[in-house]
Amino acid sequence: MSMPGTLSTIRQHCPYCDKETNCAVIAQETTQEHVESHLVGQTHYVFLKCCGCDEPFFIRAYRNLTEPDYDRHGNAIYSQHIDTFPSPESRRYTHHQPNFDIHKSLLQGIFEPTYLSMLYDQISSALNEGKNLLAALGMRSLIDAVSIDQANGNPQGGFAAHLELLVKSGLLPASQKQLFEDILKVGHGVTHRLTIPPLDQLKVCMAAIDHLLDGIYLQPKRAAAIQRHNIP
Ligand SMILES: [Zn+2]
Repeated sequence: MSMPGTLSTIRQHCPYCDKETNCAVIAQETTQEHVESHLVGQTHYVFLKCCGCDEPFFIRAYRNLTEPDYDRHGNAIYSQHIDTFPSPESRRYTHHQPNFDIHKSLLQGIFEPTYLSMLYDQISSALNEGKNLLAALGMRSLIDAVSIDQANGNPQGGFAAHLELLVKSGLLPASQKQLFEDILKVGHGVTHRLTIPPLDQLKVCMAAIDHLLDGIYLQPKRAAAIQRHNIP
């Protein structure tokens, strides 16, 4: 039985539950591709809502009608390729769970992504998808971008100079400078010495970066919230 206001219910892999669930079909559309008036392919677009977690998601199912397989009765079977948005892989937080409050604080206004918010998300995805090289390069860029953003650094300057500015501005404790120099070195190694950093090393680096971002972007908000309730 389908939910009220929906077209039907189908079994589909929900990217949020990361398993097959009952999903309500909210809307759907089918397009057909022809070559010289022959039907060669069919794409089915479906907007779904998971009946388990209530999250909406979208699938695009493409069926190539030119290369069938045959079952034992000789009936043509056309295999289907399904893309899911968001992809289940991007929702698997195996190695790094993006901090929701940090992500929100990096946005422009309420919704608009920025270079920093996109970089933060993409480093998380890279870590969770085993893309160690991209994660290491992203971390180096993120530390540098935060330095330029917060410490009014000259974008032309180098990584070391930008990090020094972060220390001078008091946003990075001097006692942690070496730690962040070492994280930058992981990225330098990928760029200049073709090293492949192990996941364990990257997870430790990202924990330190989360801590830095928390201090720079969230601590001032906490301070303001506490002061609001203090008697002057
Ligand atoms: Zn779900």
